[in-house]
Amino acid sequence: MSTTGHSLAVPGPDPAPWQRAAAGANLLAADGGLAVTIFEEMTTMAAACGAINLGQGFPDEDGPGAIAEAARQAIAGGANQYAPGKGTLVLREAVAAHQQRFYGLDPDPEAEVIITTGATEALAATLLALTGPGDEVLTFEPFYDSYGAMIGLSGATHTTSPLRAPDFQPDLQHLEEAFTDRTRVVLVNNPHNPMGTVFTREALAKIVELAARRNAVIVTDEVYEHLTFGVPHVPVATLPGAAERTITISSAGKTFSFTGWKVGWLHGPADLVAAIRTVKQFLSYSSGTPFQPAIAAALALEDSFYEGVAAGLQRKRDVLAEGLRRAGLEVFTPDGTYFVNVDAAPLGVTDAAALARRLPELVGVAAIPVSVFCHAEGAERTRSLLRFAFCKRTEVLEEAAARLARLPELLG
Ligand code: PMP
Ligand code: GLN
Repeated sequence: MSTTGHSLAVPGPDPAPWQRAAAGANLLAADGGLAVTIFEEMTTMAAACGAINLGQGFPDEDGPGAIAEAARQAIAGGANQYAPGKGTLVLREAVAAHQQRFYGLDPDPEAEVIITTGATEALAATLLALTGPGDEVLTFEPFYDSYGAMIGLSGATHTTSPLRAPDFQPDLQHLEEAFTDRTRVVLVNNPHNPMGTVFTREALAKIVELAARRNAVIVTDEVYEHLTFGVPHVPVATLPGAAERTITISSAGKTFSFTGWKVGWLHGPADLVAAIRTVKQFLSYSSGTPFQPAIAAALALEDSFYEGVAAGLQRKRDVLAEGLRRAGLEVFTPDGTYFVNVDAAPLGVTDAAALARRLPELVGVAAIPVSVFCHAEGAERTRSLLRFAFCKRTEVLEEAAARLARLPELLG
């Protein structure tokens, strides 16, 4: 590695911002150097071994051709310069119409909706706008990696409440104790990555009650809102008393299978949205212009499209879950997302992170260890768990299952 000779650490006892981001997402390499995210690590490893990549969650088939064509037409039609900072009106209106159609919510596209560069930027702008040193941000654990990184960058303290096997639902007693007067934001992810949980209405209502009691803002990441299997998605903002304190975040990546387009959005009360927009302006100013009318068209697709996405994924879930069971793993069947988790303990595995780093070469399949989404105590609790993505063609999942069937023999 070549170096500039600059010291990347700040003098004194405090870590530099990049170190706080890395530490928040468990990224510091053992030698103190910079590591990449677990998703990038596993995708690179899968490619190097020619393994089937069930690690990083992205579909192996693109979204609707008509939507891709809409983006091409937008480019051909000259939608190639900066979009307005808060997003093009057509997409802000489409987001509002989607929230109205599916959930009866009524955000004002002018003052209460902004378009972001994926949900990732929406999360970043929100946490940087609303939290800082002295504040606590409460998440469930395991937590999606960017939450830890952005809480670290904001300077706030990251507190957690566990989701435990076998159902990975919030522990409402623990949750109550985890809230303090310093809890500025409770960051909810429902349906939940990595666990695949769809939170019960009772759990969501408790979150709202506790946030109101502590005057905390609820930030809810609902990127998997349309990927639920036989259970309805309940946006936090629809619960009584929630809308006035809730920032709802989602994106186009999962629902429409265009993860690389990085089109996201958020909505909430105008004063909070204005604060977040102030920060968003300096992260990216505005987001990819030609993708915005295309995603506006996607959001307007008929209900049958959305139903088809969930039904198709449910079948894929069942194919992979069955294969994982046949491989001797304990399977936790998810109600949402495109991830299924297993406990590898029945095969004698005590360190799933070490196994995940061997798996691509050992059997030609990549997965993600769940413990990387945890602080120390949670990592202990999840040390034999692995997450597999099932957003792949059925024949790919069947081939992965066939390869994994050799696991007991290879580990035995
Ligand atoms: N939140 C969760 C829970 C996710 O799984 C992901 C990954 N796709 C994101 C946010 C990021 O979404 P985007 O790609 O739209 O930035
Ligand atoms: N959200 C995707 C996952 O959980 C990964 C996205 C990323 O690589 N940051 O697999």
